[in-house]
Amino acid sequence: MPKSKVILPGQTIGIIGGGQLGRMMAIEAKYMGYQVVVLDPTSDCPTAQVSDDQIVANYDDLEAIKKLTEVSDVVTYEFENVDLQAARYIEEQGKLPQRADLLKITQNRDQEKNTMKELQIPVSPFLVITKESEVESALASIGYPAVIKTCQGGYDGKGQLKIDSEEDIAAVKQFMTETGQRYIIEKWVDFDKEISVVLTRNFEGEIQFFPIAENSHKDHILDETIAPAIISDQLMESALEAAEKIATHLQVVGSFAIEMFVKADEIYINEMAPRPHNSGHYTIEACNVNQFDQHIRAVCGLALHEVHLQELAFMKNILGEDLPALLEEMPSLETGYVHLYGKAEVKEKRKMGHVTFIAQTEDERKQMIRQFREALG
Ligand code: AMP
Repeated sequence: MPKSKVILPGQTIGIIGGGQLGRMMAIEAKYMGYQVVVLDPTSDCPTAQVSDDQIVANYDDLEAIKKLTEVSDVVTYEFENVDLQAARYIEEQGKLPQRADLLKITQNRDQEKNTMKELQIPVSPFLVITKESEVESALASIGYPAVIKTCQGGYDGKGQLKIDSEEDIAAVKQFMTETGQRYIIEKWVDFDKEISVVLTRNFEGEIQFFPIAENSHKDHILDETIAPAIISDQLMESALEAAEKIATHLQVVGSFAIEMFVKADEIYINEMAPRPHNSGHYTIEACNVNQFDQHIRAVCGLALHEVHLQELAFMKNILGEDLPALLEEMPSLETGYVHLYGKAEVKEKRKMGHVTFIAQTEDERKQMIRQFREALG
């Protein structure tokens, strides 16, 4: 079994992508004593604010990637849309434990879904289409309601459109004209719940799971998470088993998230992300080790910690439109851990931060949820 290269505090971690995920990775890395350099086109981005240095450049600027690789002992990324050529270059230099191949699959919804099919893990029925002329026949086969998603580049509800009936076909074609790429059309799952498994895998293949999160979305954007998810032991077991199979097959290194739909006794995999995930933010306060800390440990070749949930958690995302109400409430908030990401521009539907509440009992958690929702209006 190959051993990972060990990167110790004092050495430098390069992060591609300077948003909130990079910021929380960098904060954990700084606690441990690492040097952090971030590459992002926006100067003073959320990650740069807590890092030692920033390279201001586009993610596909190969000269900048070379510079980042040169100054870093290991490189990680906070999002999956890293330029593949750049990732391959870093891997060739022996500095990308997460591997370029993993990125290739998670950048493409069709490859992601085909991987699930290969592993015989259930996904919602889907078809890949490339031309507007294929829409009608795909929908005739999949049925309504359905959803069309761009194979590449979508996030937070961008790059997808729900299709309720034949009347939406013109809108689907318009969407294809505007986005111009490959698509999947998949059956809309009338799910009971959405859950996610966040885990961390190290180079040697050891996996540590965080407690399963239960998520609710608004307009396709994560709104709230509770952990642990309120699901049966049997569902929990199926979810963890599927997640382990996928992570092992893909030889994941670092924190990794898999989103799933739950319908009756079945789980269907929706998508995965080769990085820490929004639904794992609760681990910062509710677990003995969090998803960012564990990610840094994995990419630096340190032993993973065994994960324990200490308390019940509730996490709510703060979008641009929620920020004024949160700030108004903040002086009187007696509980709740507020995380704001330092984004310069406040925009509607943009993730500006999150707040996590910790409770000892289910009743206490419910009360916190109610009060906070009311406070935000
Ligand atoms: P995604 O970008 O694929 O994670 O989609 C974002 C959110 O849209 C999901 O978390 C679901 O709430 C919803 N969604 C996406 N695809 C489906 C589907 N096939 N069936 C039901 N809901 C979906």
